[in-house]
Amino acid sequence: MENIKCKNLNHANVAIIGFCMKQNCQNETKYCLECLNTTHYEHLMIDLILNEFKQVYNQLDQELKQISKKIENILEQILKKWIRKLEYRKI
Ligand SMILES: [Zn+2]
Ligand SMILES: [Zn+2]
Repeated sequence: MENIKCKNLNHANVAIIGFCMKQNCQNETKYCLECLNTTHYEHLMIDLILNEFKQVYNQLDQELKQISKKIENILEQILKKWIRKLEYRKI
């Protein structure tokens, strides 16, 4: 049962609650609650911020696609209107 306890001697007997997902993390990747609040705190924050950023980005990307479709439709309608007007003048 050694590996479910934190390897940091100051946190002896504190249970491991997760793994650090940061690439090239210099610390022990398995962390306890104490480590999470100290050594890996920023790493976890970076992860959370990146995740949130990705979500917002995806949402924006979808909205932009919808908007560009709407603009395309409007432009098409305007174009059709003008084509009709021009054809009418020819007659
Ligand atoms: Zn710890
Ligand atoms: Zn870390």
